[in-house]
Amino acid sequence: MKTSFYLLTAILFIALFSCQTKEKPEGEESMKTDPKLQERIDLYAPIEIKADLTRLTEKQQKLIKILTEAGHIADEIFWRQTSPDAVSVRDSLKKLNAPEAEQALKFVMINYGPYDRIDHEKRYVGEGPEHRPDGGTFYPIDMTKKEFEKYVENNPEQKEELESLYTVVVRDGDKLTAVPYSQAYPEIERLANKLKEAAKFAENESLKKYLLERAKALKTDEYFDSDVAWMEIEDNDIDVIIGPIESYEDALFNYKTAFEAVVMVKDLEATENFALFKKYIKDFENNLPYEDKKYIREEVGKGTQINFVNAAYFGGDCQAGIKTIACSLPNDPKVRKLKGGGKNTMYKNMMEAKFEKIVVPIANVLLTKEQAKMANKTSFVNFVTLHELGHTLGRGNVYGKDITIKKALQEAYSPIEEVKADILAIYNQELLNEKGVISDEELRSALCTYLPGLFRSIRFGAGEAHGKANLIQFNFLREAGAIDKNEDGKFVINEDVFFEKAGKLANLILTTEAEGNYEKAKEILKKYGKVTEEIKQTIENLSDIPRDIDTSYEF
Ligand SMILES: [Zn+2]
Repeated sequence: MKTSFYLLTAILFIALFSCQTKEKPEGEESMKTDPKLQERIDLYAPIEIKADLTRLTEKQQKLIKILTEAGHIADEIFWRQTSPDAVSVRDSLKKLNAPEAEQALKFVMINYGPYDRIDHEKRYVGEGPEHRPDGGTFYPIDMTKKEFEKYVENNPEQKEELESLYTVVVRDGDKLTAVPYSQAYPEIERLANKLKEAAKFAENESLKKYLLERAKALKTDEYFDSDVAWMEIEDNDIDVIIGPIESYEDALFNYKTAFEAVVMVKDLEATENFALFKKYIKDFENNLPYEDKKYIREEVGKGTQINFVNAAYFGGDCQAGIKTIACSLPNDPKVRKLKGGGKNTMYKNMMEAKFEKIVVPIANVLLTKEQAKMANKTSFVNFVTLHELGHTLGRGNVYGKDITIKKALQEAYSPIEEVKADILAIYNQELLNEKGVISDEELRSALCTYLPGLFRSIRFGAGEAHGKANLIQFNFLREAGAIDKNEDGKFVINEDVFFEKAGKLANLILTTEAEGNYEKAKEILKKYGKVTEEIKQTIENLSDIPRDIDTSYEF
């Protein structure tokens, strides 16, 4: 891959390491844009994302602007977290004034660094490591997983701070030490002040409280109170997710949280429409296909909220590469326990953009004409809603132990948890059908939307939690005969056995989680998380369809 980038590399090298060199490197005159890099950029369909602000008051609109400014600061911190060279590569490309630099910059802006997020985090721009370091800048660059584990074992008094979600691990001679985010990232001061400024414009008292609590959390690295305050925001038109949130970016341990920001406007009508799924949470939990029923919880997600919003701004983690379409937060199980569940936020305008630009074209290639026609926007939005609800089902802690499943499954947790949410999102629709909430036809539409949806995510790459999760589902269901192929090479869902097999996969995943079985989790990833020849072929057939959207925002 690298040969075609020698020339660009030469320029970058000069920009990075020699401030005196002003001459153009040889051959630059003839250099145009790089077709391979352009191909990577074209995987993202450009689209401007807008939220309708017209129904907001002037003060609310001002609030949106200030929150977006705060979002840009969170975005900048994420740039520093993702890899040691993300910022330097970006900034040197910005300084260069050449078409190929512009193209490389576009790539870097989409991926938040020189590494391709949907090609195994492989480097495409500049010189340096072949892949993004698994631990980003959360750990010393030369530290291995083994070294960390051994160090923690020998220094149990440091375990908590080193494994904390909100510290950066650095070397101090022979020692490893933990630096709290509030000290590691000086931008946090500005970010906290921005949130305080925003609080002045918040007409809604519960939102104001959250913004002030969040500002405090950023400076103290104690997020519990602000997470609770976020859960308690009510009757609001505006919502914001900001700070260190998800831990996907730490591919070494999934401990460290990455900064992100989402500024959003509530879609009140859609939120109400979908609140009806919430009524069935207890039924979903009781219906979980555990082989051993003792794992079923008595108390479930009474406090689970579903909010439909339109995103006005995305920054940091959720904007890097594949865009988030929904989330279930906060991640802290203590907050979820206290509030009886989490808050599920569904980015309606993001979902709709993805359905149009990606799912429809994939369905047209993969399915028979008849089935492709059945894929629809409502089923897609339902699936994503039920995916988020799926995260709230099953256990948070290992059965009979005071340890979170997340901790027990380590780096295998994210993909396994995503399989759980996905497979339950489809599995639970059979129950909704039995309850009369969705019709037979809608159930069939759900299946016809699910299959192209799998390939939408498989194309994220096996290196990414959601990509891997979808590989696992496809390979498991294909092997079990729930997905067939007809003589024209089109995939067909085998409706006779589909839900039975989906239940089998759900049992496997749920039980692995309930037992906190790390070895089993790794075995599942190894066995099913692979790109088979058939999948490779299918992905090639879809190569003209964008993988995701490259979003821009008004502010
Ligand atoms: Zn998920």
